[in-house]
This record gives sequence, structure tokens and C-alpha cells, in this order.
Amino acid sequence: MSTPYPHLLEPITLGNLTLRNRAVMGSMHTGLEDYVWDLPKLAAYYAERAAGGVGLIITGGYAPNKRGWLKPFASEMTTRLQSQRHHQVTDAVHEAGGAIAMQVLHAGRYGYTPFSVSASADKAPINPFKPSALSTRGVDRTASDFARSAGLAQKAGYDAVEIMGSEGYLINQFLAERTNKRTDKWGGSAENRMRFPVEIVRRTRERVGEGFPIIYRLSLLDLVEGGQTWDEVITLAHLVEEAGATVINTGIGWHEARVPTIITQVPRGAWTWTTARLKDAVSIPVCASNRINTPDLANQLIADGTADLVSMARPLLADPEFINKAAAERADEINTCIACNQACLDHVFKNRRASCLVNPRACRETELVLMPTVRPHTVAVVGAGPAGLSAAVSLAETGNRVTLFEKSAHLGGQFRLAMQIPGKEEFAETLRYYARRLEVLGVDVRLETAADAAELAAFDQIVIATGVEPRMPAIPGIDHVKAVSYADVLNGTVVVGERAAVVGAGGIGVDVSVFLTHSPESVEDWLAHWGVGDPALHPGGLTSPKDREPAREVVLVQRKTGMIGAGLAKTSGWAHRAVLKQSGVTQISGATYDLIDDAGLHITVDGKPLVLEVDHVVICAGQESVRGLYDDLVSAGRDVRIIGGADVAAELDAKRAIEQGVRLAAS
Ligand code: NAP
Ligand code: SF4
Repeated sequence: MSTPYPHLLEPITLGNLTLRNRAVMGSMHTGLEDYVWDLPKLAAYYAERAAGGVGLIITGGYAPNKRGWLKPFASEMTTRLQSQRHHQVTDAVHEAGGAIAMQVLHAGRYGYTPFSVSASADKAPINPFKPSALSTRGVDRTASDFARSAGLAQKAGYDAVEIMGSEGYLINQFLAERTNKRTDKWGGSAENRMRFPVEIVRRTRERVGEGFPIIYRLSLLDLVEGGQTWDEVITLAHLVEEAGATVINTGIGWHEARVPTIITQVPRGAWTWTTARLKDAVSIPVCASNRINTPDLANQLIADGTADLVSMARPLLADPEFINKAAAERADEINTCIACNQACLDHVFKNRRASCLVNPRACRETELVLMPTVRPHTVAVVGAGPAGLSAAVSLAETGNRVTLFEKSAHLGGQFRLAMQIPGKEEFAETLRYYARRLEVLGVDVRLETAADAAELAAFDQIVIATGVEPRMPAIPGIDHVKAVSYADVLNGTVVVGERAAVVGAGGIGVDVSVFLTHSPESVEDWLAHWGVGDPALHPGGLTSPKDREPAREVVLVQRKTGMIGAGLAKTSGWAHRAVLKQSGVTQISGATYDLIDDAGLHITVDGKPLVLEVDHVVICAGQESVRGLYDDLVSAGRDVRIIGGADVAAELDAKRAIEQGVRLAAS
């Protein structure tokens, strides 16, 4: 019988474990790992993914000892009691038909604790805490702690373990000259630097016995100065294979690397060439990872011999049913991860529980439940931006009869604008998902229809999601032909001239500056612009970045003093700021806007007047809520719900908008 993704869905045997397919939910910390009272929630989160068909789940990282904690009191697997408690996780996954591996991760100098340790006493640039160097005996003990932790995972019912050897954590810190300045048997020559991971794998194999799968996550590209050479990477791959590893997983880039590796601007499959090279060099199965988010790409990577398995962490957060939908020829119903990081990694880095922008139920499986309604209502949802789409789909999923009104000819609202930004093309996937779900659920979608109070009178319930309109601030000359809104630029109504000023440097001002200076790039060009080179020629895979040729001269201006883009998200803001620099965008802070006229934009900075001679002044000064219809309905005494940007325009936020839509249906 033919299946739609025969390579991805083909079983594979790893030691004594046979997986039903080759899709792996890669390790990702959610914040639910850290406290014992969250284990039932963690179990429900994984069980939902297991029921959704994924072949193997890998947990977030568990430290092998306290000095390996990611933060104070973070997840660890160090005692028999902890091991016993984890049965609730492994049992839940097994009952749902899945398999689960536990990752053992020692944070090393990335540990956000004052008692972190590393190969050498060098502080990481992304952590205020300086580690102490492990003693020679301390290294030996730590290698044994890894093995003990793996043994406890095995006793807890885990089907495999993953040893975290990449992303700049402790093992990686031993491997690279950058961080290993030791002179004992654990440092110096490449052979000595590799001794630690090889000992860990060897002792783990001894502890867990033959047949129990050990996955080793190998850093194929460190993407930092002083990183490993390709020869070293391949030598290590052979050594861990000999020491007992069953599978090698792909790791790309240290957390301190200044090259983005997983955010949305990273092209899909950008790193798979590294896995393909590794696969040619080893005989055990290899797993590809990073920016793989569709079954087509995953299937292709196995079909063309790039990898034997494919790891997708965030895509399984976004849609637990990813594999079942792919297998049932319903791939067009997959809620695709758009690599925004906004609700997953950005939360984790702020010590908040992870979730997902496009799937607010992620990591809240026991709390945010969509129950079928007992008494279906007729519901009108007005506005088809992220909030309205989310509400319409969620309300229909709970059994209500939904009509969705949208005054423009398209679904999508602000998302439709966002997907025009080079590097944000993934946002189109969310609109494809919603459009398909509306169709499947039989929602009555009325485009080019501005609902009015009379028309809405017939519905039991009304949800207003009329969104926002761009704010046009009271700058003298704002009505001049040169002053245009970001919406008109992104939707193609206005074609901007060769020189432009962008007013307002929030998320949209930065995005618009990228839009005005960039064209979509091939993977090769993207890698070259970020200075990623052949690791066989450049240790760590870093070389000189190729200059970008911006399409226009752009000046980005804000009233605030201080750094442009300071308020952008933790895991992606730095990369957006780097792109502005690469594209030669001039940045001006602390400006007051005096006038827009034929000459351009007149501003004052530090008391000095300045004229920016530009063809267009693109206004990105935030938004105002569109709530006229809501006010009319409330005045008329109707019980109306309001969500999304129509509710609160400040810090307009798709994460909040989509969550409001789901919560409305859940309530
Ligand atoms: P925003 O982040 O609120 O930024 C608008 C900027 O316009 C403000 O930073 C402000 O800067 C300026 N401004 C506000 N009122 C003004 C006025 N009356 N006159 C002149 N300037 C004024 O809004 P946004 O850029 O439209 O983004 C909206 C939301 O979209 C964000 O909150 C974010 O959640 C999301 N978003 C994020 C990203 C990203 O992270 N990459 C990208 C796109 C959108 P000054 O006062 O300093 O001039
Ligand atoms: Fe993907 Fe964004 Fe969801 Fe994270 S929050 S899983 S990056 S869609």
C-alpha cells in the first residue's frame, strides 16, 4: 500500500528499539521538567505527541549532577526517587503508543548558577556567572555521573537516552580549544579534548548494557571562533560510534554563536548539508535537525540519503498530530511551526513555561481544553486576522455554527503583511492552516463583507476581532504624499523610492527596514552573508561574511534614546539588529520629528536640525484599535466579546490574539 511519505513513515530499528517511523521530536526544554508537581502536565504533553504518531520523543535536558543544572533547582536525574517518579511520563507515552528518550545535559558554563563548572574557568559571553574549572578527578566523576543518570533513565522506563554533546554545553566546552585550556589528560591535544565525551559514551554503554539505544548529539558546526575542525568532528563521530553510540544527532551552533540557527529567517533545511557529510563518514544512523518543519522536507531528507531520521522539536509543539496528519494525507491541515520562538524559547529564556504561538494549548494540555459544546450556538466572528481566525476555528471545533466576516478580500490581517517580509515567509503557512481548517470545519466565510449591527442581530453570539489600523502620528506634513503607512508598503499599494526613512523602530519598523533593503535569499547566499563556510576549511564553520547589497538606502529613526531594537525578543532580536547593520541601515535614536515635505523628513537630534532627503517616509508608529462596530453593538445592548488588536492595540501581539481566540472557545 502506498503512503504519502514512505521514507519518513518507514520503521527503523535502533539497538533493541524499533520505532514506528523516523520522525523524532527533538529535545526542547519547556519548563515543565523542573518541578515534581509538573510531571503530570509533562506526561500529558508528551502523551499527546505520542498519540499524534511521532516515532520517538526526546525530553528536555536533565542534569547528571547539581553542578550541571541549567539554573538553580533545574531538572536533574540523579536519584532513584526521581527515576521512580518519571514512570508517570514514560507510562503515559507508552500507553499512547510512543517511545521516549531522556536527554542528559550538563550545562557547564551555561549554567545560570554561581557554582557552575567547565573545562576551564572562562566565563561565557551570555552568562554573568563565571564557572570554576573541574579538577581532574571532577571530570572523571562527571563522566560517571552521565552514565549513572542514563542508567536511572533506563530504570524509569525510558526507551533510550540522548547525551547532549552540542550547542556549547559542557561536553562541547571540553571539545573546543576555545573553552578547553586544560593541561591534564582532558585537555590540550584533540585526542585529549575528545576523551571526556568518549568516556561518557563508553561508561554509559557499560551501565545500560547492549541494545539500549544511546543517541549522541554531536556539534557538527560550532559557529564560534576557536571551534572544532571538521577533522575533529568526524574523528569524534567515529570514536563515539566505537564507544557504543547507536545514533548520532545533529547539533548546530553554540548558544553564544552570533549566527542564527533556528529562527524564522534561517532558510528551511539550511543545515542539512552538514548531516549529509556526516552520514557519508559513519556507519550508524544519523539524524538531521534544525529548521525542518514539513513532512515533505523530512521525507525528502531520508529519501535522498541525507539522514536516517529527522528531528523536529518545535513543529511537534505546534502540532502534536503532525505525523498522523501526514500519514492520513492531511498534511495541508498541519499547524506548521513558523520558527518565531515567541512562545517557546523566548518564554523559556524568561523562566516562563513554554507554549506555542500557533498552538496555545502546547504545554497546557491539562489546562486549556476544548470540550464539545452541549448547546451549539450560531456565532458571528468579525475580522479574519490571527485573533478572528483562531476564534472561528476553535469555536467551530467545539461544535458551534460559525460565520466569519472579513471586509477585505483575504484572510490574515496583520499576518498577511508579516509574510511579505523576507525571512518571514513561514507566516503564510499559518494562513494556509487556518484556511484549510475553516474549510474542513464548514465555517461560513464571507470575504469582502463588512458586517453591520443589523446583519449580526441574527446570531446568538458575536466576537469582534476587527484588528487595528496603522497609527499616523501628528507630525507636521503627515498628509504629504511622501508619508506612507507600513501597511500600504507591505501590501504593495506603494512602491518605495530609492531612499527611505522609517519612522518608529519597533518590531514593524525593523521588519520594514529589512523589507526595503532585502530580497529573498537562497540557502547558499544566506549562509555566506552570515559568514558560514566549509568547516573543512574554516574551524567551527566560520569565515568572513559576504557583504550584502541593500536594495535601497534606509534610515531608521526613533524618538527613544538608546539602542534601536532594544525591545525585540530575546532569541531573535540580536539577529534582526545584526541584519540591519549588514544591510547598511542608518540608525538614529533620540529624534524629534519636525516636518515632512518635498525635501523629505526634517528631524532634530541632540538639538541639531537635520533633513533626511528621502523619497518616502514610511510610518511604523504602532497601531490603533478598530472598535467602532464593537462600540455600536455595546451601545445597542448586545453581549459582545472583543479579542486581538481590536481589544488592545498596544504591543499588538499575534501570540496574545491567537490565545484569546482559543480561550474564548474553551470558556
Ligand atoms: P511598537 O513595537 O509599539 O513600535 C512602534 C514604535 O513607534 C514605538 O517603538 C515608538 O518608538 C514609535 N511611536 C509610537 N507612537 C509614536 C508617535 N505618536 N509618533 C512617532 N513614533 C511613535 O509597534 P510595532 O512596531 O508596530 O509592532 C507591533 C507589535 O508587533 C510589537 O509589539 C511586536 O509584538 C510585534 N512585532 C514584533 C516583531 C519582532 O519581534 N521582530 C516584528 C513585527 C511585529 P519611539 O517612541 O521611540 O519613536
Ligand atoms: Fe514554532 Fe513559534 Fe510555536 Fe515556537 S512559538 S513552536 S517557534 S510556532
